[in-house]
Amino acid sequence: MRTHDSLIELVGNTPLVRMNALTAGLAPTVLAKAEYFNPGGSVKDRIALRMVEDAENSGQLRPGGTIVEPTSGNTGVGLAIVAAEKGYRCVFVCPDKVGSDKLSVLRAYGAEVVVCPSTVAPDHPDSYYSVSDRLAATTPGAWKPDQYANQNNPASHYHTTGPEIWEQTEGRVTHFVCGIGTGGTITGAGRYLKEISGGRVRVIGADPEGSVYSGGSGRPYMVEGVGEDIWPETYDPQVCDEVLAVTDKESFVMTRRLAKEETLLVGGSCGLATVAALRVAATAGPDDVIVVLLPDGGRGYLTKIFNDEWMADYGFLSAETEEATAGDVL
Ligand code: PMP
Repeated sequence: MRTHDSLIELVGNTPLVRMNALTAGLAPTVLAKAEYFNPGGSVKDRIALRMVEDAENSGQLRPGGTIVEPTSGNTGVGLAIVAAEKGYRCVFVCPDKVGSDKLSVLRAYGAEVVVCPSTVAPDHPDSYYSVSDRLAATTPGAWKPDQYANQNNPASHYHTTGPEIWEQTEGRVTHFVCGIGTGGTITGAGRYLKEISGGRVRVIGADPEGSVYSGGSGRPYMVEGVGEDIWPETYDPQVCDEVLAVTDKESFVMTRRLAKEETLLVGGSCGLATVAALRVAATAGPDDVIVVLLPDGGRGYLTKIFNDEWMADYGFLSAETEEATAGDVL
């Protein structure tokens, strides 16, 4: 019988898919690393697995323990799957800008979810950072993975995502484009690709306009999972050669195009990363191979990005936008 003993075995080894329509007229090859093929539907399954196994090995997480984490949803799903396999309880703390579909998924896996306002400062007692700290301190047997500081986050990408991209492209990758949230993906995979290529691979970050990574003040933006108002320990800015700022409107319009034109039904941070990748592609040569990492699938965003009314309410959908983006890329 060809079976798997556990979903955990299916984490990683995601496919690399060539973009054809969006890259028409551009010289380089652009390949999407489609992370929604992970069992929890996102890139975050990778860090969940490594963080939990390390905590078990070091004794921080013991049988019957509780995992407490501030997460925009995807890390929660990854942790919930790993926890369910191993018998831990999960409490997740999410900012209120996260779509209700994502929260329902967490609850479906049996996790408890606490929702906090996303407009308050990180040191405010109601911020999702503060609330998760408090819960971790007061819950018996609690362990907080702390994806913003846990070095197993970038390490998981150094040991899996990076090597996969190198092997799948047979060492031909020249550019790696990736959104920055905790910075774990770009730091781990980017560092590996730089090391193995002797510094040849260029690493380009994609950041929502307003976020600190691209020089912003941390003012609000709507793309979920990327951008920060603090500098986390999981991000090493040395790994990035360049960080490109992308607006919400550009990100969401591109996310819709990814579904329609590439049949990649993916999330808003994927649109963001793709805008950056196509900007890089516009100045790259025919031998260049650009890999853009697409962190999650689009089903958690059906009532937002893929809803015309929602897009129009925020001014993201207009006759000019549809016309301006129908023929050309940017
Ligand atoms: N996109 C989405 C949808 C995410 O959930 C995350 C994780 N926060 C990212 C992008 C960014 O990945 P990383 O935290 O590794 O920088």
